[in-house]
Amino acid sequence: MSVITLDNYINGKLCPPTNDQYLDNVQPATGQVYSRLPQSNEQDVNNALQAAQKAFPQWSSLNPGERSHWLQKLADAIADNHEMLAQAESKDTGKPIQLTRTVDIQRAHDNLRFFAHAATQFSSESHATNPRTINYTLRQPLGPVACISPWNLPLYLLTWKIAPALAAGNTVVAKPSEVTPYTAYLLSQLCIDIGFPAGVLNIVHGTGQQAGAALTTHDDIKAISFTGGTETGIAIKQATLRQHKKISLELGGKNPFIVFADCDFKQAVETACRAAFSNQGQICLCGSRIYVEDSIYDDFVAAMIERMKQLNVGDPIDPKVDFGALVSANHLAKVQSYLDLAKAEGGEILTTNQDLELPIRCQEGYFLKPTLIIGLNNQCRSNQEEIFGPVATIQKFSSQSEVLQLANDSPYGLAASIWTNDLKRAHQMSSDIEAGIVWVNCWLLRDLRTPFGGMKASGMGREGGFEAMRFFTECKNVCINYR
Ligand code: NDP
Repeated sequence: MSVITLDNYINGKLCPPTNDQYLDNVQPATGQVYSRLPQSNEQDVNNALQAAQKAFPQWSSLNPGERSHWLQKLADAIADNHEMLAQAESKDTGKPIQLTRTVDIQRAHDNLRFFAHAATQFSSESHATNPRTINYTLRQPLGPVACISPWNLPLYLLTWKIAPALAAGNTVVAKPSEVTPYTAYLLSQLCIDIGFPAGVLNIVHGTGQQAGAALTTHDDIKAISFTGGTETGIAIKQATLRQHKKISLELGGKNPFIVFADCDFKQAVETACRAAFSNQGQICLCGSRIYVEDSIYDDFVAAMIERMKQLNVGDPIDPKVDFGALVSANHLAKVQSYLDLAKAEGGEILTTNQDLELPIRCQEGYFLKPTLIIGLNNQCRSNQEEIFGPVATIQKFSSQSEVLQLANDSPYGLAASIWTNDLKRAHQMSSDIEAGIVWVNCWLLRDLRTPFGGMKASGMGREGGFEAMRFFTECKNVCINYR
């Protein structure tokens, strides 16, 4: 198999890394190297920042309609290349092609289109304090900003960050995950194809330790929008403490999926399966702690196992497959270590990999079947730590107050899903649960206008809608007295 060489995208051009060093990139479904990406260093980051600085005066002084035009052009380019990008994303991540077609690439397009529209609707406040005094708020772009994204939804999360930053008039230096660089590289090619203004968006590939750290701690970076693990978020916050940057941290989750006996049983089982195992459980919003009211617990576990057996695990490029490979050998080893831990903690694992049949080309791939664990208490590490794989635990509860306490007994607070037909209980639980996003009788339904983000160890700041554009601006109040 030929190995593709990826480049950085700086000042409107594809550039090799200045040190000529590359990293291998492996296809998770086969375990084979299929591309190499720049192992960028401080010099590459400086070059990208210089380009972003140079482009800022012109980009920020465009009127919003003109910025909107460019974002829409990029959205259209994604739509025109939808299938090519879906295949690339599936190859890069190991996720099923049907998912990259319907979710990842579609959403990348939607993010850019949404913020193309938002650019023209963005407004600020004005207050008549008394008949001769007016206060108005100026929201001005910051300058070059950093967008750092993880590997689980590569193009989707990259565009979720760059789109509001660009719409608000900033220039961007982005660093995608070294594990999944391919679609970001293809996006830079699309930028070149449509003549996107040089230096406005720059993409530097490489490791977090080298390129990521050089970028986030650079004095010229005014804001950092980061999505990734909680420990990395803390490291970035600490490293930049004295630089007074704006920071938005979208971090890990260990989300409760709570099922009351009065729910719509079939729909709850179906969605619990989807919430636990979509993208092989590698979504920050996955419902990985399932709590079921005791009167339906046995039936629920049995129905879950039946539904899990129907999941078609296999080669992600096969359109009939709905469960693919984990992202890397390291990540698979980490997830498997949690299965050993869960056993040591007294858990019973209800599935095995033994009957997994894979096509020949996938024999070296990173596959693990969807796994359900029973018999663990809430305090054990398997229930407290983010595993970020196809592993869900299931526990029973006997009252609303008990399940609320169990759900909130977690360092994380990203999302929760509650299943009940009791309206009063739905509102009470939504209000009392410690999570930035609550779904009632659904999961992962997203409206891009709504604020998105977590509480506690799941992060700080809210992205989404105008909230995201406001993050990427400096807010100044002007008070005018014309007495
Ligand atoms: P990581 O925290 O390992 O990495 C995220 C990004 O940060 C990568 O691009 C990484 O580079 C980079 N990075 C690592 N160290 C530094 C550093 N010191 N300075 C600057 N950048 C750095 O997360 P993963 O990629 O493993 O993603 C999985 C995590 O992301 C999970 O915890 C998941 O819950 C979370 N996540 C949260 C979401 C949310 O919205 N709350 C959404 C999606 C995922 P490198 O390529 O070297 O790793």
